[in-house]
Amino acid sequence: MILRIIVCAKETPDTVATVEAREGVVTWDDAPLVINPWDEYAVEEALLLREKGLAATCTVISMGREDGSEALKHAIAMGADEAILISDPVLADADTLLTSHVLAQAIRQFEDVGLAVFGRQAIDGDTGQTAVQVGRRLGWSTLTYVSHILELDAAEGSITVERMLEQGRQICTGTLPAVISVLKDINEPRYPSFVGLRRATQTDVAVWTAVDIGLGAAVISKVTWPEVSNLPVHAGAAEIIDGATAEEKVEKLVEKLMAEKGIWR
Ligand SMILES: Cc1cc2nc3c(=O)[nH]c(=O)nc-3n(C[C@H](O)[C@H](O)[C@H](O)COP(=O)(O)OP(=O)(O)OC[C@H]3O[C@@H](n4cnc5c(N)ncnc54)[C@H](O)[C@@H]3O)c2cc1C
Repeated sequence: MILRIIVCAKETPDTVATVEAREGVVTWDDAPLVINPWDEYAVEEALLLREKGLAATCTVISMGREDGSEALKHAIAMGADEAILISDPVLADADTLLTSHVLAQAIRQFEDVGLAVFGRQAIDGDTGQTAVQVGRRLGWSTLTYVSHILELDAAEGSITVERMLEQGRQICTGTLPAVISVLKDINEPRYPSFVGLRRATQTDVAVWTAVDIGLGAAVISKVTWPEVSNLPVHAGAAEIIDGATAEEKVEKLVEKLMAEKGIWR
């Protein structure tokens, strides 16, 4: 049996773009949109599983604006098989509850899904909630902060992963189907090949509306973000401490810190 791996990927502003809040609205002017950097690791892991011998296909799903297929095209250029954009005016400004509802409903359209892979977070919304909420809605095993897939046994219906936490590492096993969110430690995403880039321009992205995935008219967000502002700019001056020896420099530094009441002897 061929197992379908679904990767959920979001379009975000390029990391080199200057993202600012202007009059309460987040803007990145006309900077290019790219695949959310964390999602490249998710796509790569799906492709690696297939290359290591798992009989699998890779479908990438994104919810976004009408012409928001950058993330999907990038995933196809990397080697994903199929791309689906869910776009509908009723989904504008979706919060994570609505986003996870939409993504879970899209995943339910397929009967053969064994694994849904997410990046750890999106670099714009940055809530890190979506994967967990999708897992909860589907009622699947949900494994976050995955730094390594140790084993995926489709016949046994199990997945064993290493989770990397601040306090240490954990080995966790869950049943399939499962939702995982991956860390950057998990792999090194490939650059799309020339052939892949050409394939991406030739591949049609399927577009689904809210009705196509069976969402009723009452799809609403519960969270809004009425005010967004930039962090205050901290003006600071740098001072270089001179001295003939390291000890002399340290002594001068200590005196300065004591004078500023930064430290006490
Ligand atoms: C300024 C601002 C503040 C916000 N604050 C909140 C808030 O506090 N609470 C709230 O519920 N919503 C909030 N949102 C909305 C939230 O950004 C969206 O719901 C978004 O679609 C998902 O959340 P995220 O970007 O935080 O993704 P995360 O949960 O950080 O992303 C995790 C992974 O989920 C996947 N993913 C996320 N969105 C999509 C998508 N549209 N399509 C496919 N895959 C996806 C990606 O794989 C990503 O790597 C905010 C949005 C903005 C612009």
